[in-house]
Amino acid sequence: MNFEAPRAHVVELCLVLSRRGHFAGTGGNIMLRIDAQHVAVTPSAMDYFAMGPADVCVLRLTDLAKVDGDQAPTVEASLHARLLRARPDVGCSIHTHQPVASACALLGRELDVPPELRASLGARVPVAGYAPSGSAWLSAKLARQVAPDVNAYLMRNHGILCCGRDSAAALQAVEDLEQLASAHLRARIAARAAADAAAAPALQRVLDALQRRTPS
Ligand SMILES: [Zn+2]
Repeated sequence: MNFEAPRAHVVELCLVLSRRGHFAGTGGNIMLRIDAQHVAVTPSAMDYFAMGPADVCVLRLTDLAKVDGDQAPTVEASLHARLLRARPDVGCSIHTHQPVASACALLGRELDVPPELRASLGARVPVAGYAPSGSAWLSAKLARQVAPDVNAYLMRNHGILCCGRDSAAALQAVEDLEQLASAHLRARIAARAAADAAAAPALQRVLDALQRRTPS
């Protein structure tokens, strides 16, 4: 079987996510469904600007056995796999440490999704409890939150996981989640500034920085 096209697509997606600031260094990873049995995943600890299609791993979804690829797969392969096994409608999942949504993951509160973002993000953005990166414990915590109408998950004190029917939809969810997280944080900061005049100038600088990072 020839896996060249999906592998090249994973490389392309990593470059887009890196350029947009959602992947930093080797942080962040992707799983792309190839067919009923196979998925393509990013390799572990690799600089995405130096990665080529041959570095992308092909795994069997049921047990994550490696079918092709010289590199070791991302330590988060089981995290993605729990989502793709539970959601046959999902063609791509993306895990990032994107800055603004990850700040919301530190706060640990579920986000409400306004009607205009529900087609992309789903009904709500739940929080999966903290567990160390790459652990079975972390994938089990995420699996408990997986729902058919939820395409974006905050991972407590860590980052986020977004998914979609294809890579374009998953990428859109990543972008929309960053905007939603920014709106949520800005509302909280503005409320604090209104209640505390002494802190208001400093808080305004934070608001300005968020506005530059995620222009609305
Ligand atoms: Zn991570």
